Amino acid sequence: QRRHTLSQERLRAAPCTTKDGTRISLMADCASVEDVRTAVEAGADGVGLLLSEYLLLAGRVNGEEEQYGFYAACLAAAQGRPVTICTFDVAPDKTGTEFPREEEANPAMGLCGVRYCLAHPDFFETQLRALLRAGAERGNIRLMLPMVTGVQELRAARTMLEQEKQALSARGVAFDGAISLGVMIETPAAAVIADLLAKEADFFSIGTNDLVQYILAADRGNADIAELYAPCHPAVLRSIRDVIAAGRAADVPVCMCGEAAADPCLIPLWMAFGLDSFSAGPSALPEVR
Ligand code: PEP
Ligand code: MG
Repeated sequence: QRRHTLSQERLRAAPCTTKDGTRISLMADCASVEDVRTAVEAGADGVGLLLSEYLLLAGRVNGEEEQYGFYAACLAAAQGRPVTICTFDVAPDKTGTEFPREEEANPAMGLCGVRYCLAHPDFFETQLRALLRAGAERGNIRLMLPMVTGVQELRAARTMLEQEKQALSARGVAFDGAISLGVMIETPAAAVIADLLAKEADFFSIGTNDLVQYILAADRGNADIAELYAPCHPAVLRSIRDVIAAGRAADVPVCMCGEAAADPCLIPLWMAFGLDSFSAGPSALPEVR
């Protein structure tokens, strides 16, 4: 135990650099202010993925002020490090999230992620306003859209973001005017058109949990087909390789989040594909490093 603790301590302080001197950015997947604090203590370079829907999981009211408080607290806890906040990711497997939803025959392929937000503009605008305002002080916030399948969703979200900026400006409310807008690459469609998305997205993060599930048509939570849920499947590997290449070709930064980003057996492979930014759960950071 003592040896383990010591090595964890050493790992925390170690530079995140390969033997040939390539600097790797190591970020954290977080869902709470406490997670952000833990990540900073573990030496994270920032938050690669802050899941905002856990605000709703905690059963709290989803008003603008409350959201603003949560985002501002997360940004403060990151102490100037970049924080990528994923807009509300409505998903059937996120049980307890308090989104008013219609019954759907196949909710995993239904009104989830950015689709839900675009279909409920008031709800989404409230989140965008809270995010824009939270970024005013420190400017270390980046927004990311989940479950994107087409360029039109990115455009629609960007239009709404611009409208909220104008509305805040007109009211004299401070906000982060330079906020960047990225795409979570977690559907096969987004992976296949990564070159097109790269023309309009400020950054990518490969969401491996869902990308694996949707490419392989294998429910990530179904134990009966756990063997089919394989991040090493050639279809997944090719997709990830191509997304990284598309990002690099367009000078769009690419990060990776989800379980596969924290798998020590897979990390060398992602790096061989050219990936230099990872986001893993705070407790996994020392091992990933
Ligand atoms: C993912 O899909 O890879 C991801 C990181 O997000 P979530 O697990 O919340 O869907
Ligand atoms: Mg996901």
